Amino acid sequence: DRTFQYRIPEQLRQQVSIGSRVKIPFGRGNRPIMGFVVGISEEAKWPPEKIKELLSLEEKDVPIEGRMLKLAAWIRNRYGTTMNEALKTVLPVRRQIKSVEEHWLNFVVSEEVAKKELDRCRLKHYKAKVRLLQGMFAENGQMTAALAAKKYGVTKPVIDGMVKAGILSVSNRKKYRNPYDLTKDAGKQKQLNDGQRRVTEEFRTEFQAGRSHTYLLYGVTGSGKTEVYMEMIEEVLQKDKQVIVLIPEIALTLQTVQRLGERFGARVSLLHSRLSEGERYDQYERAKRGEIDIIIGPRSALFVPFTDLGLIIIDEEHEGSYKSEKPPRYHAREVALELARLSGASVVLGSATPSVETYYAATQGEYKMLPLTKRAAGAQLPKVHIVDLRNELKAGNRSIFSRLLQEKIEDRLRRQEQCMLFLNRRGYAGFVSCRSCGYVLQCSHCEVSMTAHKNRGGRIDTLMCHYCGHTEAMPAVCPECGSPYVAAFGLGTQRVEEMLRKRFPTARILRMDADTTTGKYGHESILEPFRQGKADILLGTQMIVKGHDFPNVTLMSALAADMSMFSGDYRSMEKTFDLLMQASGRAGRADRSGEMVIQTYNPDQYCVEAVRLQDASFFYENELAYRRMAQYPPYIQMVSVLVLSADKRMAKACMEALVSSFETNCREEYSLIGPAEAGLSRAKDCYRYILYIKTKEEAVMDEMLRQIERFSVNTEWGKNCHIQYDRDTINSY
Ligand code: ADP
Ligand code: ZN
Ligand code: ZN
Repeated sequence: DRTFQYRIPEQLRQQVSIGSRVKIPFGRGNRPIMGFVVGISEEAKWPPEKIKELLSLEEKDVPIEGRMLKLAAWIRNRYGTTMNEALKTVLPVRRQIKSVEEHWLNFVVSEEVAKKELDRCRLKHYKAKVRLLQGMFAENGQMTAALAAKKYGVTKPVIDGMVKAGILSVSNRKKYRNPYDLTKDAGKQKQLNDGQRRVTEEFRTEFQAGRSHTYLLYGVTGSGKTEVYMEMIEEVLQKDKQVIVLIPEIALTLQTVQRLGERFGARVSLLHSRLSEGERYDQYERAKRGEIDIIIGPRSALFVPFTDLGLIIIDEEHEGSYKSEKPPRYHAREVALELARLSGASVVLGSATPSVETYYAATQGEYKMLPLTKRAAGAQLPKVHIVDLRNELKAGNRSIFSRLLQEKIEDRLRRQEQCMLFLNRRGYAGFVSCRSCGYVLQCSHCEVSMTAHKNRGGRIDTLMCHYCGHTEAMPAVCPECGSPYVAAFGLGTQRVEEMLRKRFPTARILRMDADTTTGKYGHESILEPFRQGKADILLGTQMIVKGHDFPNVTLMSALAADMSMFSGDYRSMEKTFDLLMQASGRAGRADRSGEMVIQTYNPDQYCVEAVRLQDASFFYENELAYRRMAQYPPYIQMVSVLVLSADKRMAKACMEALVSSFETNCREEYSLIGPAEAGLSRAKDCYRYILYIKTKEEAVMDEMLRQIERFSVNTEWGKNCHIQYDRDTINSY
């Protein structure tokens, strides 16, 4: 993972550019190996007489856009991966996959001559030749060799003979594999409403003036963001530029693709992980040849080689699937912004619940805010009820279904409408709370919740902070109100299902969670019957919330909103808000208004209150105040560093050595949290230690990240331990 200087021979000087693939002599033995040109310079880093010359330029391979190489270099620097990994990411197709060729047969003689030949063959009883010529006439003078074989039983020697005789010619044409048949269906275009027109106009004015920006299309659910995207795309296409539309992986089956296909037809293509390598390659080829202008897909669609990129749209920009979980651990939003900068393109980030960073950047004027405040089809916003579970306990209701929720479920069963109930277990880390007063035990240093740890006998005896390693004994009574009802929060969907069946014996219930959705069609085998009305209640984890529309669902409930509120991560409120808000948007559609019941021990939390008010901005204001006070992003930069080793003491010592190397090599404008054992303290027989770096200065962070890289390359520690860092602080750490 280093760059090396080579001299470009005189005769290649014109042809070699950034992104060229070249053969170079390497090492003492001058072994010829392949390399990528990542930069061209006039200055020699070595004595010029020591610089070797590159051997040849490989032109047969996929030519690489210089832009993509620059992007790879940026990814390498920012996410601490190797140049090799970064190149593999931006150039997902490195080998030419042989595309399917079709052999087309054509007459090279006049119809008259061809008819005479047919007559001659008939007389001579050349049966195969007769079938071939008859076939040619039947197919209007043109067919593929494949069709000739299949439909008319003609073999290759027969065709060859006819070509030799000067009657037919064979020409080869590339056949592209188009994974989706997107057919244009004009006339479905909607008349934009005032809000939609206003934001589209703003984009158009800037675009026509040649100014590119990052926009936040901040529109409530159902505000018609897709229509706005389509207007913007239209504008960009008219200037002969291309568009990348990113959608979360989960949404691939959704209507977005269909709607874009209806409007833009064959100019649109789709990319996703289930395509074969060949299909994938073809989409890249088509993009490069200018046969398509719009590509839709998850984060990897960013790397489609468009020559004149005008716009990148990221729909549901807050979604977790935009973050890569394997190296390089890049975030598609950040990469999109860099790609747009390199290509002079604009970026549109769309969401009803944008990430806190994005919202902050928009309020700081770094992004342009494009608000859509009304639902397009005139539907009502849902009515949200908050149930305080502390009161249920006081009133003697020990069931997990509050009295209000039971009433509302009974009502829906009577009216034959459907309900969805979910447990938000994401990031669930066993926090400890009081069932009497709702108090959650938090770390006194980090403002995040403590996690329960069991002793050998399986009893919870200690609490631990996964940010700083601080531990405390599990208290016997609530430190806030003295109640003995303090316990680790835990509840599974299976148990809830049993309770639900007991309480509503006549209801038809479906359960959806990781256990019931194994297999390729696991999700659909539950969702489809529910959509068809074969069940009254769908119970599940948060996976039932996202990306599904069921017109007959008029009641939605979060059974225990607290479960994701205190997951020992500074972003747990943000994730909870996002989930509850999206869930509230699922209940009730155009003609019927929906209701949502949120059950919680913390009704005063602003993430709950914001959903009740259906006011996202209320959430962001409170959340930003918390982040500023506790010093978390976006007010500071934060990076997590993970050290893994099969030897526990080794991992710990390595982490300590790294910390002292910061002290000697980096400016002092940073603070550290930890090191501590990671939340997931051991995985695959590796012990894991975690450290968080916080700093206000981007330059200081860069210095420290480079120091981590030097440390792992230049010291013995790097050989014995695996050291990685991440711009995001992931829960599973
Ligand atoms: P969002 O992505 O913002 O949640 P959608 O783009 O899915 O919203 O639009 C919500 C619904 O409103 C869709 O059924 C869409 O067809 C409809 N819609 C959008 N714009 C208009 C409009 N200008 N007039 C009428 N209906 C519209
Ligand atoms: Zn209490
Ligand atoms: Zn702490």
